[in-house]
Amino acid sequence: MTPLIPSASPDTGLLAKAERGERLSHAEITALYALPLPEVAAVAHELRLRRTDPGTVTFLIDRNINYTNICNVGCNFCAFYRTKRQKDSYTLDYEQISEKIVELEAVGGSRILMQGGVNPKLPLSYYTGLLRHIKAHHPTIRIEAFSPEEVLFMEKAFGLDLDTLLDTLIEAGLDGLPGAGGEILEDDVRAKAAPARIRSADWFRILDAAQRKGLYTISTMVIGFGESYAQRASHLIKIRDQQDKALREYGVGFAGFAMWSLQTEHTRLHGKAPGASAHEYLQQLAVARIALDNQPNIQASWPAQGFKVAQAALYYGASDLGSTMLEENVVSAAGGHGRHNATVRELVRIAHDAGFKPAIRNSYFQILRYPDVGAVLGLNAAAELDEARAVGAPG
Ligand code: SF4
Repeated sequence: MTPLIPSASPDTGLLAKAERGERLSHAEITALYALPLPEVAAVAHELRLRRTDPGTVTFLIDRNINYTNICNVGCNFCAFYRTKRQKDSYTLDYEQISEKIVELEAVGGSRILMQGGVNPKLPLSYYTGLLRHIKAHHPTIRIEAFSPEEVLFMEKAFGLDLDTLLDTLIEAGLDGLPGAGGEILEDDVRAKAAPARIRSADWFRILDAAQRKGLYTISTMVIGFGESYAQRASHLIKIRDQQDKALREYGVGFAGFAMWSLQTEHTRLHGKAPGASAHEYLQQLAVARIALDNQPNIQASWPAQGFKVAQAALYYGASDLGSTMLEENVVSAAGGHGRHNATVRELVRIAHDAGFKPAIRNSYFQILRYPDVGAVLGLNAAAELDEARAVGAPG
């Protein structure tokens, strides 16, 4: 194969090394940010084509459920949480959650992503009862729930060691632990953005235990706090190291990697944290694809960057469009692109128009089915109309 990047100069030598699939060091990953984005993107896309089905872009039909917005952590970047005294604070009961899952079942969904604030009033029985209720009433739906922050709260509040707590939640019906709250896994960055936020060692400790027990997990990253490129590179290397360990010791690691940009509207960080432009988002995605040589499934983020940038991201290292969500509350509360959900039609169109075959997947990125693009997008009807017009067209 002819290399995309000739290895004549030191800079392109770095990209040539990446293109050969060789692992990059912290210094080398940091150096990627100084290179022209089109060249970095070309290598990232080539690696994406090699590491996943090159013709396919996947997505999941799921629903986000935020069971409570009451939270006592108070992250400076969060516009979602409320104190219990605020009028619009809420905690959903099991029936309200069931109603949301019925809507997901009606559109052929396969999982819920269920997270909430850290609500000190909820007993352990709320969580275990909720998991049991969902499994009893919605047996085909996978439950991926509770961020490491919520798990850390449960450990402390209920006096359980992590193994016992996870076993209790698994026994009640938990299928996976989303890796939310990763942000930048450098404590200097975390302490400024959210002094009471879970620290990186606990984030890894909890996800490592989940992986040891065979639970589904994903890795995450949020940029735009004002972190340095070196700190971003450190974040990626920590994720990569954990993935190496999990695959080596447990045979199962992060199923995928999701990265988005900080949204600060209605938050205390508004005007203080830079966020990230489309260029910076796409650059970070390309760098992540190159750095994370042990994670084939990398998602584009439409809630934070909008559909158009998410579509462009399919040429910057992303192979997946995330999920439909049906109800996204956390990113959209802080700005985002004003969208709480995506329809199957919208995600099919993004993938198809970008030149890929859209595929509906499960949590583990295994393909469940290929939607009929013609039917979903109405292309068949349009083609018939063109044909009819051609036949009926005057001389
Ligand atoms: S990000 Fe999560 S932990 Fe932080 S304030 Fe918001 S709901 Fe609470």
